[in-house]
Amino acid sequence: MGVLFLDELPEFSRSVLEVLRQPLETGEIHLSRASHERRYPARFQLVAAMNPCPCGHLGDPRNRCQCTASQIQRYQARLSGPLLDRIDLQVEVPALPPEQLTAQTPGESSEAVRERVMAARERQMERGALNSQLGGKALEAACALDDEERAWLAGVLERLKLSARAYHRVLRVALTLCDLEGAPKPAQAHLIEAIGYRQLDRLLGKG
Ligand SMILES: [Zn+2]
Repeated sequence: MGVLFLDELPEFSRSVLEVLRQPLETGEIHLSRASHERRYPARFQLVAAMNPCPCGHLGDPRNRCQCTASQIQRYQARLSGPLLDRIDLQVEVPALPPEQLTAQTPGESSEAVRERVMAARERQMERGALNSQLGGKALEAACALDDEERAWLAGVLERLKLSARAYHRVLRVALTLCDLEGAPKPAQAHLIEAIGYRQLDRLLGKG
């Protein structure tokens, strides 16, 4: 499995971006030409970056955004709801003030993070598959939400106008957060954190 990194995501034409939907969902590309049909394996991790608007300063407290409302809308409209739906972690990275960029406080070492990730993967393999490959039923079984938790989650997704498809995607991320912590099953805090990673869906109202 490789990583596909698309910088300046909205600069790609919408038809190119839409083609990504099938391999993101199935891990395969289907090509049909006249009487021939071919399938090729295409399992990859999509990583993408974008600015909030064409000038890049929307929401930045230190720089004024120069874009008109319609420019911003056209820019953001290049990403379709179904494509965003397939991106599990959507995180805003605010511009850092210069003094923070040059600060010397060390973060967690990559080695420590690696150990945590390896342990989480091992837990997933013990369940039979990585969380990204779990089907709906196996995912529900692994999360073991009770009726109350399920109703709560459905209510929150509805209030945030997130799609029904987002339900399983949120569960999958919550289960991964729980695996990273070594917790027995996702708690409400994991679900809330997983929903928090769908910022773009909510911002653009495309859930
Ligand atoms: Zn702007």
